Parts: sequence; C-alpha cells; structure tokens
Amino acid sequence: MRFLIISDLHANWEALQAVLEDAEGRYDRILCAGDLVDYGADPNAVVDWARRTAPLLVRGNHDKVCAGLEDMEWFNPAARISAAWTLETLWPANLEYLRSLPKGPLPVHGFQILHGSPLDEDEYLINVHDARQVLPFLHCSLSFFGHTHLQGGFISHDGGFEPVPAVPASQDERVLEIPGGRQCLINPGSVGQPRDGDPRAAYVLYSEEERLLRYRRVPYDVAAAQRKIRAAGLPARLANRLAQGE
Ligand code: ZN
Repeated sequence: MRFLIISDLHANWEALQAVLEDAEGRYDRILCAGDLVDYGADPNAVVDWARRTAPLLVRGNHDKVCAGLEDMEWFNPAARISAAWTLETLWPANLEYLRSLPKGPLPVHGFQILHGSPLDEDEYLINVHDARQVLPFLHCSLSFFGHTHLQGGFISHDGGFEPVPAVPASQDERVLEIPGGRQCLINPGSVGQPRDGDPRAAYVLYSEEERLLRYRRVPYDVAAAQRKIRAAGLPARLANRLAQGE
C-alpha cells in the first residue's frame, strides 16, 4: 500500500490542490494528521474535499476549536479572530463533520497517526528532547504527526533521537529508507502554512512495501491564497506569513 501523508492544511485550497496534483498516481490512500481548518480562507472547500475523499484522519487542535468543541481563549489574537470567522463561515454539514473527527493516535496498518504528541493533541514535538519524552508512549515503531508545521521528524538512535531534516530549498524531494528496529516519528510538514522557512507546501509519500518515505515540497499559488485571506477580512499577518513560510 502507498500512502499520501498530509497535515496542517489550514483551509489553504491552493496549497492542497498543488499537493494533490504533484502526488497524483503515486498513492492508494490519504492519511491526514489534522488541522484541516483555521488561518486560511477556504474552510468549506477543504472540509468538503475531506468529506468527499474520506482520508483516514485525526482532528487537530484547530479543528477542535473551530468546531466549537474547545474554548479559543488561549489562542493568540490573530488565531482567535480566524477561529471565530471559521466557526461562523463553516456550513452546518462541514461543522458536523469537523465535530465528528476522531482524536488521535489512530492506528493504521501497523503504524499510527496523531496530531501533536501521543499524549496530547495540543502538545508540540519540536526537538529531540520532546521526542525522547514521549518514547515510552509510542506503541508502534512508525508514527506520523503534525502540529509544528516543521517538515522532518525524529528517528531513535542510541537511546535518544536524531532529527530528520526537511527537503532542502534547492530540491523538491528527500528520500529516506525507514531503518529497522528504530522508532520513527515522521512529520510530513504543513500543506497550508509551512513554518520552516520554506513557503512551498509540504507532504510525504510512504510506500509500505519499499519501506521508503519521500518528503516532498511543491510550489503553489501563494498570491491567490493571500488575496482570499485579505478579502475575507482576516488578519494581514495570516496572509503575509505564507510568502515567507514562517
Ligand atoms: Zn496546525
């Protein structure tokens, strides 16, 4: 089985389209590590796509807040404004779908998908120290996660973890063979709001048979996504940051 692994779409329709075109014909199933909505101006298009396509997915912290399942009080001001706008803008059937998304970790084919950490969907796995903290709670050797919007992840090594670098800016792919006997925490990066300094949409192709991960980056129409964010009256920072990937 070949999987397209995506995360943190954040209502960015242009970025999602670019990823789907780039990956076309190279996967059998789609897995999503959460955050379909918030920040971007196309929550209905993205959630409609998810309802039609039925990927295996877990909810993200922004899905939970935008579905009205959790208070948005602890969000920063820009996130609070966009979460309230998203909650108002979502059509009832799309809101219902968001509310029904399962909390991770979700076991799939001998591996698992989760949003933040195996313990808490709101917790960030940013560095090797964070990865080491959750080692006792990993119930399978391969996990896909998101939330940080940083492509890469961590692979266990000598009782600790080493980081997996993102695709270099000069390339569009980095291939990684999954090592045996190690714990792999793999972050495909963010489709709709990358924060690792590379504005291109990020994702991963995973082949079970070959035990291969292909980290990929694909350019998309950033200006179109920015225009929609501004036209919706959302905070300018949410549009501006897309150009820098931060
Ligand atoms: Zn996110």
